[in-house]
Amino acid sequence: MAYTEDRAAWFEGQGLWEHVPESDWQNWGWQLKNRITTLDQLERYMVLTTEERRGIAFAGHKLSLAITPYFFNLINRDDPNCPIRLQVIPREGESITSAEEMLDSLGEDDHSPVPGLVHRYPDRVLFLVTDRCASYCRYCTRSRLVSNAQDYNFHPEFEQGLRYIESHPEVRDVLLSGGDPLLLGDKKIEHVLSRLRAIKHVEFIRIGSRIPVFLPQRITPELCEIFKKYGPIWMSIHVNHPRECTAELRAACERLSFAGVPLGNQSVLLRGVNDDADVMKALVQRLLRMRVRPYYLYQMDLITGGSHFKVDVRKGIEIIRALRGHTTGYAVPQYVIDAPGGGGKVPINPDYVERITDDEVVFRNYEGRAFRYPLTSTPLPRVRPPLAAEAERARFVE
Ligand SMILES: *Cc1c(COP(=O)(O)O)cnc(C)c1O
Ligand code: SF4
Repeated sequence: MAYTEDRAAWFEGQGLWEHVPESDWQNWGWQLKNRITTLDQLERYMVLTTEERRGIAFAGHKLSLAITPYFFNLINRDDPNCPIRLQVIPREGESITSAEEMLDSLGEDDHSPVPGLVHRYPDRVLFLVTDRCASYCRYCTRSRLVSNAQDYNFHPEFEQGLRYIESHPEVRDVLLSGGDPLLLGDKKIEHVLSRLRAIKHVEFIRIGSRIPVFLPQRITPELCEIFKKYGPIWMSIHVNHPRECTAELRAACERLSFAGVPLGNQSVLLRGVNDDADVMKALVQRLLRMRVRPYYLYQMDLITGGSHFKVDVRKGIEIIRALRGHTTGYAVPQYVIDAPGGGGKVPINPDYVERITDDEVVFRNYEGRAFRYPLTSTPLPRVRPPLAAEAERARFVE
């Protein structure tokens, strides 16, 4: 069935927590303290499937369960296939490991010169500053370390990472990630940003965060002031489904934008969540309305216990084809596979080019119509006088 939505509606309000004072609801500390983290708490609010109950029993060994009240409100509790529910409530599939899957599927640990820093590309580094998130995504690429349910004991060491960046002048771009960097307090964030800003060769600072989606209350005016002070700082948020685009997320994006933070979005292609062209189109169009430019659409990494989320790559290509030309160019993300073992992100594109020869390129447009662009230039014989002479003659007549 085609996905439909009320384009004018943006979810808002406190939902199940209507009885809570608004000052609590808007307080990010309150949201974190009142997260749903156990089977008992979940069952107080909804009827779980057997699959989910088994998944939750296993989650403690893999990736903790945590959902902020704000995000929990977005779940349709009557629908076991709700796309929001699938993202944050564990299912039994997590306990099944497939032969192709790996704990560290991107070989990040092998490209880590100091703990918490991944230097894969020549000019930029990934700096993991925490192992905690506001809520946990069941398909998380870094579930080996995030939430520390697997006793990975990742202790982010800012100092070592900062010193590495300071002593490597080829690093012009630093991407803060984790876990979620915005879960750190303002003081710590300001410390890291000010240190990075003080490094002459660091031109570009960006933050990868799902906090605006899980905990928009964290995007306080004070935090925005820090971004202003140490900017330009770019941010990639992580929205997978149009229903995550609420009035509160939109307001948080507005605060960030007005603080001069350009916003991009990274989605993961997930079975049952967004592996559908209509869902994806609704998502990217909502993102533009929130001042967010779709950046990447990721093929899911081969993490252990992730196969129940896996989508055929041909489906991903079909989704991109359904977007390009059919909606605003700004709305089309780049579909990528992060090469297993650590080859970096590789674009996966629909093929529009039919053939290229020395003479021409033949390609199809978004409607499937074929066109030809000649690669040769064949000068025509001069049958008319050159333009200058023509102009001269015109003057003479006057
Ligand atoms: C994704 C990633 C980056 C950033 O890649 P861009 O394509 O520049 O956004 C940098 N380092 C690592 C290790 C990454 O995984
Ligand atoms: S917010 Fe990011 S790092 Fe945290 S669990 Fe989700 S995908 Fe993983």
